[in-house]
Amino acid sequence: MADQGVVLSAPGEVALEEIEVDAPGPGEVLVRIDATGVCHSDLHVIDEGGWHHSYPVLLGHEGAGTVVAVGEGSDVAVQLHQGDRVVLGWKTACGQCSQCRRGEPRQCKKPPAAPGRLHRADGAELTPVLRTGTFATHTVVPAVAAVKIPDELPTEQACLIGCAVATGVMSVLETAKVWEGARVAVIGCGAVGISVIQGARIAGASEIRALDLDERKLEQARRFGATHTKPGPVDFVFDVVGRRSTFEQSLELIATGGTVVLIGLSPEGETVEIGLPELFARRARILVSHGGDHVAQEDFPRLAQWAVEGKLDLAGMVTRTAPLEAWDDALHAMRDGDVIRTVLTP
Ligand SMILES: [Zn+2]
Ligand SMILES: [Zn+2]
Repeated sequence: MADQGVVLSAPGEVALEEIEVDAPGPGEVLVRIDATGVCHSDLHVIDEGGWHHSYPVLLGHEGAGTVVAVGEGSDVAVQLHQGDRVVLGWKTACGQCSQCRRGEPRQCKKPPAAPGRLHRADGAELTPVLRTGTFATHTVVPAVAAVKIPDELPTEQACLIGCAVATGVMSVLETAKVWEGARVAVIGCGAVGISVIQGARIAGASEIRALDLDERKLEQARRFGATHTKPGPVDFVFDVVGRRSTFEQSLELIATGGTVVLIGLSPEGETVEIGLPELFARRARILVSHGGDHVAQEDFPRLAQWAVEGKLDLAGMVTRTAPLEAWDDALHAMRDGDVIRTVLTP
């Protein structure tokens, strides 16, 4: 059967269509997508006119699957074999940019990609979202972006590690370095917010405040470790929403010396006004978390291990599974806040 993918071909135009997937080049792997989470960033790509990707865009970036073919020629590729089950990472380190060279792979500016392998039926080159393109039956990624997962971990759960879980948990452990006993608040309790809550629990936070306008999400948050559902002074606030109102609320919530971590993608042009004397008086720290500053090769194995050990609840985050054809319903369900995650199974 021909390959299929969900393609954003022009502003607002999205459709499931036939695509062509080339063989992997040197240092690349061809992966059959078995499961892909439907993440807010895909909506962001649609809403923000492609979000810096060139049209046509192959959507999806939270995928897991099976290695079908391995291209020649890289150390990482050599370690992967046909049949390996992998999670795809959209943020791997290049090892060559200035950030990587000064020993900060988590801040890599040029994660490797496998360009030119995916096409529409008419031959036009597809740009896979965040170098992955997982709303598809197959995709091609750099071998370094395919991380093996333990046999015990179901693929429908494993895919969440690729974006929401890495972003949320690593924002806590790596970006913010939350300490044991810290007080934490999370604004926005979707899949990333739930992952922040789980990360805070793993870090040993003494208080985890879940904040969301949607009552259903607050109830869910308690299941994953939230201890409070009302605002209060905290050492760390994670703004998973990224709007003026939530960022301002974040600044109000931090105690002296507290940290605000911005995770959510803001719409183009969003601004805030910050009182500098107040910022100074609070000795506030403001951090930006780029996907939890994760490094796939390093972080995915430990996240997967925690899931197998039951420290990290992934099963509870998968609200529904659906075939690839149901991509539109899945996007709507996310917009409406009906699900933590829909996982599509191409
Ligand atoms: Zn995502
Ligand atoms: Zn780099």
